[in-house]
Amino acid sequence: MIPADSKSSGNDSHALAAAPDSVIFDAVGDALVVTDATRQIVRANRAAARLFGCPAQTLVNSDLARLVPNAAELGDLWQAASVPRNAEVHALSYDGRAFPATLTIGAMPGGGHVVCIRDVTDIAIAQRQLVNRSLRDGLTGLPTRGLFLEQVDHALARRRAGNATGEVAVVCLGIDRFKLVNDSLGYPAGDELLAETAGRMAAELGPGVPIARLGGDEFGILVDGVGRKGEAVVAAERALGIFSNAFAIAERSLLVGASLGIAFAAPEDDLAAQTLLSNADVSMHRAKKAGGGRIEIFEPARHGEALGLLEIELALRDALQRGEFELAYQPILDMQRGSLRGVEALLRWNRENGASVPPSIFIPIAEKSGLIVQIGEWVMRRACAQMKVWRDRYGAAAPEYVAVNLSAKQIDRTDVPALVRRVLADTGLDARHLELELTESTVVENPAVGQSVLQEVVALGVSLAIDDFGTGQSALSLLPRLPLAKLKIDRSFVARMDVESESFEIVRLIVSLAQALGMRTVAEGIERESQIKLLRSLGCAHGQGYFFHRPMPASGIERLCASPTPTPNRSIAAAD
Ligand code: C2E
Ligand code: MG
Ligand code: MG
Repeated sequence: MIPADSKSSGNDSHALAAAPDSVIFDAVGDALVVTDATRQIVRANRAAARLFGCPAQTLVNSDLARLVPNAAELGDLWQAASVPRNAEVHALSYDGRAFPATLTIGAMPGGGHVVCIRDVTDIAIAQRQLVNRSLRDGLTGLPTRGLFLEQVDHALARRRAGNATGEVAVVCLGIDRFKLVNDSLGYPAGDELLAETAGRMAAELGPGVPIARLGGDEFGILVDGVGRKGEAVVAAERALGIFSNAFAIAERSLLVGASLGIAFAAPEDDLAAQTLLSNADVSMHRAKKAGGGRIEIFEPARHGEALGLLEIELALRDALQRGEFELAYQPILDMQRGSLRGVEALLRWNRENGASVPPSIFIPIAEKSGLIVQIGEWVMRRACAQMKVWRDRYGAAAPEYVAVNLSAKQIDRTDVPALVRRVLADTGLDARHLELELTESTVVENPAVGQSVLQEVVALGVSLAIDDFGTGQSALSLLPRLPLAKLKIDRSFVARMDVESESFEIVRLIVSLAQALGMRTVAEGIERESQIKLLRSLGCAHGQGYFFHRPMPASGIERLCASPTPTPNRSIAAAD
């Protein structure tokens, strides 16, 4: 026996199966319209009327283009096909509101089509939020590095395709001594400074100039289509100008500076966006190194290199194996007696193609890529082995120490005390003949790790010096806690100390600071006798510079050791 309800359901099924198409058509939740071969709407269901905000009858006889303006551009989607096909479009409601929609087009007999239109506004909003989250920096609301690279790429592609003229310029801006703000006032203050910088940059440069937060304290500016290089420089100067007013951060008034680097790509350059950005970045770091608060322009020709920095990085990877590195040694003299005290080992890269790349270009690339770890180990080995030969051959006439530059990355990535121990054991050099030079920022950026590493190294008998003192982030508060033997006064102060009272004052302060802390001072970059006189009067212990000697090959140092006169070519006495 068949149950009553099943019987009735059988009847309903029958009724449903026999329902007229128009009923089904109107019951469908998605908007459906049927068009003829010329894409005139011949039928529209209720959902379509709801979606477009007018009676179904109003839709009939109108052109589909009235609802989907670019429907005609969907090309082969209108070709007869057994499987319905989708397209993303913008649809237009009857009152003129545009909304994102998906069209599904199915072919009908006789050349017509049935078109299903779905409003995907919600999906689009969700997608945009997701994308924004990865492409926008949460703190400043600016595009991130990834999006910025896309924008640069787009600008370069338009040049290649001949759709735009002029050069593309990328400006990289870094806040000077940003870490100091973070360390002394706390991270929220650092965040405030970044957000305020972003706001000022956007207000100064306006909506037509794309800006981005590249990471940390670095910002990018894209100047798309510069007729003259001056236009990009003007944009950079305006960005630098926003730092002339103090920032109100953490209830204080802070004056901070910035360093900017600019790189250009001419239409014929065929540079990748990443290369252009890293060129600007290197110039920015050069500006920082030169004391900050300035703009540097990347000029490949200046370095005899027509290559982008990425290419330099690739070549750098092979340079060790190819034996392209060499060490030059610059004598460090006793300022009072003029005798040779030590030498600083300075790396030289002479490429196979005959070009020689300056350390100010390749060292930052080696640091960024991590190659500095192997290269730094090579330098230490080579310098110690050379020193051992000199000590054995010339005894007391040999330099007392060789100074080797150590980069911050080496401290981060290598067990420096173990490396020093190994190198000294392998070369047989006594630890007291080795000195390591670190910059202030190396110490400041990693005070805890840095301090324990430095203690260990000093325990081995090696001495430490702070290089380029006075230019980087100030290590003043850390100095008394570090086992340092020397402060090397940066060349920029020595260069002006005999012509500018402010620089003289700084040198005087550094020398007395070192004396108070029981350290010695080494003046870098001495080029004139007048500087020697002043340095001697201040009691600066050691000095190096072109006035005495330029960096030279090992054979040059050997000639000095063998020479009977302790004070070479130009006598210190001449300064008296
Ligand atoms: P630095 O350690 O401060 O080295 C001193 C720089 O000043 C050298 O430049 C030297 O040639 C230059 N100099 C010396 N006296 C004078 C002078 O009287 N006038 C002028 N105008 N310059 C003078 P260089 O060799 O180009 O090296 C630049 C920097 O590259 C070094 O600065 C150091 O920071 C880095 N560097 C060089 N070799 C190495 C290395 O083996 N490892 C690491 N990590 N960095 C290195
Ligand atoms: Mg040095
Ligand atoms: Mg130096």
